[in-house]
Amino acid sequence: MPGSKKARRSGTYRDQRDFRKPPAGLAIKRSEWKKSNPIFVIQKHHARRLHYDFRLEVEGVLKSWAIPKGPSTDPKDKRLAVQVDDHELDYADFEGVIEEGEYGAGPVIVWDAGPYRNITRDNDGKELQMSKALSRGKAEVWLEGKKLRGGFALVKTKLGGGKKPNWLLIKMKDEAQDARRKPVVTQPRSVLTGRTVEEVAKEEA
Ligand code: MN
Repeated sequence: MPGSKKARRSGTYRDQRDFRKPPAGLAIKRSEWKKSNPIFVIQKHHARRLHYDFRLEVEGVLKSWAIPKGPSTDPKDKRLAVQVDDHELDYADFEGVIEEGEYGAGPVIVWDAGPYRNITRDNDGKELQMSKALSRGKAEVWLEGKKLRGGFALVKTKLGGGKKPNWLLIKMKDEAQDARRKPVVTQPRSVLTGRTVEEVAKEEA
């Protein structure tokens, strides 16, 4: 087995001292990640209100939702996900501060990222294209992130009102479900640089 328990543990400690690096096992290699197709990314964004921008690559753009509470690994949680404008693919690895006066002013980190798979099925059990699944209001994706793994369902809902379409992001039941993990609380750092959103705000002020 590559890497004994001991070696892995000391690696973790070393990386934690250098906060520019994500803890061992949590770092994603930007070059590798961007080669995968399609990708997902979750950017933690402290604008006027803190939220998590969940983005899925679909037909050359990033379909995007703003999730005020962030994703949960507990299938009992239904997290409001407000659909927002599509973003360009290049935005996926943006980390930094959106300047005062611009839309969404505030710091952004890449909170999680990786490849994803569309696992949406139609009534016959055949794979349904993502664009079709989204226009029908129900999509299921399999995430291969550093913090989030396994199935997640996006379900459009009429709840909540407002001008923008409201969806719910729900962890599907599988081996990656975990009601106690709360990664939003316990894993606040960027998977690209190991920084928190507060550190990015301070460093780039
Ligand atoms: Mn945002």
